[in-house]
Amino acid sequence: MMRQLLPRCAPRASAFVAPRRASPLGLFQAARQYSISPEAASETKLQDIDPSQLVIQKTSAPKPLKKSEDLVFGRNFTDHMLTIEWNKTTGWQKPHITPYQNLSLDPATCVFHYAFECFEGMKAYKDKAGQIRLFRPDKNMERFNKSSARIALPNFSSTAMIDLIAQFTKLESRFIPEERGYSLYLRPTMIGTQKTLGVGPPGSALLFVIASPVGPYYPTGFKAISLEATDYAVRAWPGGVGDKKLGANYAPCIVPQREAMSRGFQQNLWLFGEEEFVTEVGTMNFFVAIKNKQTGQNELITAPLDGTILEGVTRDSVLSLARERLAPQGWNIVERKYTMQELDEAASEGRLVEAFGAGTAAIVSPVRSISWKGKMVHCGLKDHEESGEIATKMKNWIEARQYGDDAHEWSYVC
Ligand SMILES: *Cc1c(COP(=O)(O)O)cnc(C)c1O
Repeated sequence: MMRQLLPRCAPRASAFVAPRRASPLGLFQAARQYSISPEAASETKLQDIDPSQLVIQKTSAPKPLKKSEDLVFGRNFTDHMLTIEWNKTTGWQKPHITPYQNLSLDPATCVFHYAFECFEGMKAYKDKAGQIRLFRPDKNMERFNKSSARIALPNFSSTAMIDLIAQFTKLESRFIPEERGYSLYLRPTMIGTQKTLGVGPPGSALLFVIASPVGPYYPTGFKAISLEATDYAVRAWPGGVGDKKLGANYAPCIVPQREAMSRGFQQNLWLFGEEEFVTEVGTMNFFVAIKNKQTGQNELITAPLDGTILEGVTRDSVLSLARERLAPQGWNIVERKYTMQELDEAASEGRLVEAFGAGTAAIVSPVRSISWKGKMVHCGLKDHEESGEIATKMKNWIEARQYGDDAHEWSYVC
């Protein structure tokens, strides 16, 4: 039987080849294609965030405005919130602006159990002409996407999100005081919303933005802070997630911070490794100005982005302005590792010129001293001074761009 079948198969096989030249489409149906081309895969791409689909439901009970001087950071919120839901089968849903309200979530929702949460911190400012401005929002959205990707939450179009935040911020503009130093703190947040205790990638997520009017960090001018170098706990480590804005990174920082405060310091300074590399201060990046021991040249130094340092937008702005305006005056602007030992030596030789933290909340936060191994390292300020020259200049330069006095591409008019 087999011998008979084989010759019958052979002519069919050649017949299979022959019409191929004439009608390839019909023939390919016969051959099952198991793998799909990259183009076919991208056709099934999920819906991205679409600002043109925004649905706005305004509040019927607008909140009374607080007096500017009574504003406390992160305590009062505006009338509305922006929400966008995502699920893994269709992607991002229509964006909504609704009255500010509670979220209703099943107790098994993954955010409560495995910390599927990341966030951003940015501000909106009112300029002299009454226009609302964001400061380098592209940087925040880029970082937000990096954070969410690291915890298996979805990504989105940065430009679409900036457009939505701009619309939301404009709607809440009555909450932004006109005076210099005031702004609207924006908190974009993303959480995994799948309800299951199984540890896996969330099949659904919620992105929301809430907004809180805030006053100047230092209402009566700079107040230099004192730090305690933490030697018993580590904030971030190589290969870890300290360079992402994940909620899970922040709760463990409170105890060391509270310890420092209990001993009379305003913040703790995070070190890393046996070398005691200086990394960050509280939730700010850290800068020091030192006179180089060999050359006597002024150096503005901050830790490099080696995975243990949060990529601060303020850090980047300080570096950029320093390269633009301090370097021509002979300053050397350096991103490198430096140790507590090095700071102590510079301080004792009178070469530590100043030190400051840098972050969105305060822009810069001058540092008077660091308690380290039972001694006090003085950071260069005289007793009557609350800020060094570089910190003061940086605050003014950055503020000028945030409020649109110094027209610059960093400022985004809503
Ligand atoms: C947010 C944050 C900063 C500062 O970032 P900015 O973008 O400048 O506000 C620095 N360090 C940590 C750990 C942070 O969470």
